[in-house]
Amino acid sequence: MTIRITNIQHFSLQDGPGIRTTIFLKGCNLNCPWCCNPETINYNIEKYTEKGLKKEFGYDISIKELEKEILKDKIYYSKNNGGVTFSGGEPLLQIKELKPLLNNLKEKNINICFETALQIPSKLLKIAIKYIDEIFIDIKILTEKEAKTILNGNINLYYNNLEIISNSNIKNITFRIPINKEYTMKKDNINKISELISKYPNYNVEIFKIHNIGESKYKLLNRKLQNFTNITDKEINEICKKLKKYNKNIKIIKI
Ligand code: SF4
Repeated sequence: MTIRITNIQHFSLQDGPGIRTTIFLKGCNLNCPWCCNPETINYNIEKYTEKGLKKEFGYDISIKELEKEILKDKIYYSKNNGGVTFSGGEPLLQIKELKPLLNNLKEKNINICFETALQIPSKLLKIAIKYIDEIFIDIKILTEKEAKTILNGNINLYYNNLEIISNSNIKNITFRIPINKEYTMKKDNINKISELISKYPNYNVEIFKIHNIGESKYKLLNRKLQNFTNITDKEINEICKKLKKYNKNIKIIKI
C-alpha cells in the first residue's frame, strides 16, 4: 500500500501543537484561486523542468517508509503534544490508504492532526474520525453558489461534515480562514463566517493573509496565479477585531 505525497516537512511549528512532521498529500477536490500549494491539487504526478533539469511534483511512498519518516522525530513529539500532521491537498481523500498507518501511529501514541477543507464524502471523514486528536478546518467561501463556481465545492457537504466533527470526541478544533478581499471578505461571506464561528464558541479561529508564496510553483506548473489585493496589517487587525465579537478565540497567524 502506498500514499501519494509531495513533501515531508520535519520540525514544523505551524501545523498543530508542539514540534510536528507534516506530510503533504497529493490530490484535492477543490481548486481555490489562492492555493499556496498548487502542486498538491492534481493527484497525478506532474512533470516540470527547472534550470534544464527534468523533475516531478509528487511521489508514492510505502506505509512502512512513511511511518519510518514520522518516527524519526518521535523523541521531539513528547513535549507540548507534538506529532504528525496530514496536510495537502486534501488528506482525507486518501484515508483508506492511510488507515493502516494511522492504526500503527495510534498504537505508538503519536498525536495525529489533519488539515482539511472538509468538502469530502462524509464516509471518508467517518473512517478518519477515531484517529484524529487535532483538526484544522478551513473556512473559505460559505455562500452556496460561489462555493460551487469558484472552489468547485459543496457547501452542504461541508456543513454535514462539520456536524459530524462537532458530535465527535475531537477536543482540539481550529477553524482557519484565509483572508482575501476578492473572495472570502465579501460582505455576504463575512456574514456567514460570523454566523458560523459564533455557533462554535469553543473552537479556535485563526485568520491569515493570503500571500504569493506559491507563485514560483504556479510558474513551474504553467498556471497563472491571480493577482490578489495586498492586505495591510491594519486591515487584518480590523477584520480580527470585527470577528472577535462572534468568537473570542480568534487570532492572526502568519503562514
Ligand atoms: S483546499 Fe487547500 S489544497 Fe485544495 S485547492 Fe484549496 S487551498 Fe489548495
